Amino acid sequence: MQNSISETVIAYIGLGSNLQNPIEQIHSARAAITALVHTKEQGFSCLYQSLPMGPQDQPDYVNAVMAVVTDLSPIELLRALQAIENNQGRVRGERWGARTLDLDILLYGDQVIELPDLIIPHVGLTERAFVLYPLYEIAPQLIIPNKGKLVDLLVNCPLEGLKRLA
Ligand code: ATP
Ligand code: CA
Ligand code: CA
Ligand code: CA
Repeated sequence: MQNSISETVIAYIGLGSNLQNPIEQIHSARAAITALVHTKEQGFSCLYQSLPMGPQDQPDYVNAVMAVVTDLSPIELLRALQAIENNQGRVRGERWGARTLDLDILLYGDQVIELPDLIIPHVGLTERAFVLYPLYEIAPQLIIPNKGKLVDLLVNCPLEGLKRLA
């Protein structure tokens, strides 16, 4: 049941950037997320380099996945992440176009959420290498609501140019 009493959950956040020093953007976003009220870092993957989805005339991406323990509701967390994107100069252009920062809520506890502004598990989660591999690093035992074991999704997902950065 959804209610107004917040409960502590583990949420997983996908981070991506391909403009204005992407590695710095990811580090700044990590610090900003950790600084959110009622939210603590619980894990952070390595950084990965990935090929862009959609328009190909844009730089490669840097991606990572972060685990947080949070008392924010799913919508509160979404709004907080959107504020961080905006603070770091996110400009919304064409779909899957280049951006300084993209923060997606991949999972929020074991909840399934289908609101106009918020779908959880995140729509891309099951087939995107740049999400599945870093997620596996910090949560190898994870079970994705309605989708099964993370490891089973991962073995069926080609790397598609994904590289772990040193
Ligand atoms: P994709 O969602 O395919 O990764 P994108 O990240 O480029 O693409 P955005 O332009 O960043 O897409 O976001 C579009 C909308 O997605 C946002 O306005 C937000 O309301 C919605 N959205 C739905 N579910 C989520 C979620 N789990 N995390 C973040 N945003 C979400
Ligand atoms: Ca905090
Ligand atoms: Ca995204
Ligand atoms: Ca997004």
